[in-house]
Amino acid sequence: MLQLKCFVGGEWRKGSGKPAVLLNPATEDGLAETSSAGIDFAAALTHARTIGGPALRAMSFAERAEKLQGVYEALYAYREEFIELSIANGGNTRNDAKFDIDGSTATLLAYVDVGRELGDRHLINDGDITQIGRTPRYGGKHICTPLQGAAVHVNAYNFPAWGMIEKAAVAWLAGVPVISKPATATALLAHRMTEVIVEAGVMPDGAFSFVAGSTGDLLDQLGPQDALAFTGSGTTAAVLRSLRAHTERSVRVNVEADSLNAAIMGPDVSPGSDTWQMMLNEVANDVRQKAGQKCTAIRRVFLPPVQMADFAAALKERMEDIVVGNPADANVRLGPLVSRTQLDDVRAGIGELSEQATKISGNLEPRDLPGVEPGKGFFLTPHVFQVAGIDAAPVVHEREIFGPVVTLLPWEDTATLIDACARGGGSLVSSVYTDDRSLARELLTGLAPYNGRLTHGSSKVAGISPGPGTVMPQLVHGGPGRAGGGEELGGMRGMSFYMQRTAVQGYSALLDKFFPD
Ligand code: NAP
Repeated sequence: MLQLKCFVGGEWRKGSGKPAVLLNPATEDGLAETSSAGIDFAAALTHARTIGGPALRAMSFAERAEKLQGVYEALYAYREEFIELSIANGGNTRNDAKFDIDGSTATLLAYVDVGRELGDRHLINDGDITQIGRTPRYGGKHICTPLQGAAVHVNAYNFPAWGMIEKAAVAWLAGVPVISKPATATALLAHRMTEVIVEAGVMPDGAFSFVAGSTGDLLDQLGPQDALAFTGSGTTAAVLRSLRAHTERSVRVNVEADSLNAAIMGPDVSPGSDTWQMMLNEVANDVRQKAGQKCTAIRRVFLPPVQMADFAAALKERMEDIVVGNPADANVRLGPLVSRTQLDDVRAGIGELSEQATKISGNLEPRDLPGVEPGKGFFLTPHVFQVAGIDAAPVVHEREIFGPVVTLLPWEDTATLIDACARGGGSLVSSVYTDDRSLARELLTGLAPYNGRLTHGSSKVAGISPGPGTVMPQLVHGGPGRAGGGEELGGMRGMSFYMQRTAVQGYSALLDKFFPD
């Protein structure tokens, strides 16, 4: 079986010890195995900090942008191979594989643009000079310079390509070397992408390291100039936040975690209208895409009671049309969940939800699926639930069921609606569908404190919106509370995590000379 290795200290190294096995979740065949036991993480960190960091910092933003462009070109040439790996190891349909892989390269290109715009600089000026003395001669301004350590990235299983590259692009452009660790279950794609990046020889030595398997003692060794960016469950986030590196040495930790995202329809939206169709498409897509294993997927759909029956019927019809099965079959639109553990967890969530809500669609144990041997694979069909009142099913606002599951809830007044959305504890994204502008403003403003991103669906943007589930590199990604309280991307904003913002005071004319805009 294929053995995945770690790329650390500028070399590929094989771990010792009992390996973890990576499966095809549609067939349960073993695809590869990996272990990182015995890897010298202290040496890996030193190599990144002392070789990769200085090499990146010696370049201007424009020069780093050209490196990102080179990585983009190298990866793009292997797109078809990556898609096949993603189908095999991630249980993704071809379109779902492209969503992850093309998302990664699109993010690289977005950061190429950011870097080219920053040009020949080596640091970022954050704002103009402010007079802080009695006369304009004495002033102060803020500058941002790259951290002198390394960035460790720990990623979730659902986006092995996008998760790795979106984080790396931002850190590299900021001038910080990266040590990336994908989730073990789906590490095959990230491993192959790393091979391609290494073979391309675009990035300087030490700028990129890769850990296949556990992080061992790596995180314990992080110091005050390092940073840790994590995407995954709230449970793991809590473990990482309790690391001494964070509690005692103030290592920055950015968390992107779970989320109970909401979609809301306004009472003005009539069945069959462009806005109705837009919402139906986006809800249906989020339940199906990546078998609902998407942190930004809509989980709660709030509808005025008068629209409930029509919307429920239309969504049920869409869900029951979806072909579930082995994504190696081109007709399949929804593949398996990633693992037995994930399937058990989703089934348990559905069990809990079934006690409080009415199931209108879904099968926990589908049979005779295309391309699937009886008894094999981690499948279930899309599930749609409906609840009688906005408060009737507390579990909907408490538990993230990370699978193809959505719940429809009635709403009648905006205050109760916003309160119900907020009970999710902080979300990555919510969406409001209405052509009533005053309602749109009220909801977007009222929901903003509880969400990292909001989308407004209306007849003006029907057909041109990528939907709330698509993270845009130009806009921030992250959310308060349960969603982790973190922030990534957002164009230049994302680089702040990898840079120190320093206030500099002195003779204003000199500050202008030292740090020109
Ligand atoms: P997870 O179980 O928390 O694992 C995430 C990552 O953390 C994996 O790479 C895992 O490695 C690693 N990890 C686990 N325990 C660790 C420890 N003690 N020390 C260091 N690393 C550790 O999450 P998941 O099951 O992969 O992902 C699903 C969750 O991620 C969902 O809740 C979803 O909402 C969330 N998610 C959020 C976003 C976002 O942007 N907000 C995006 C995607 C997913 P191993 O695989 O080797 O255990």
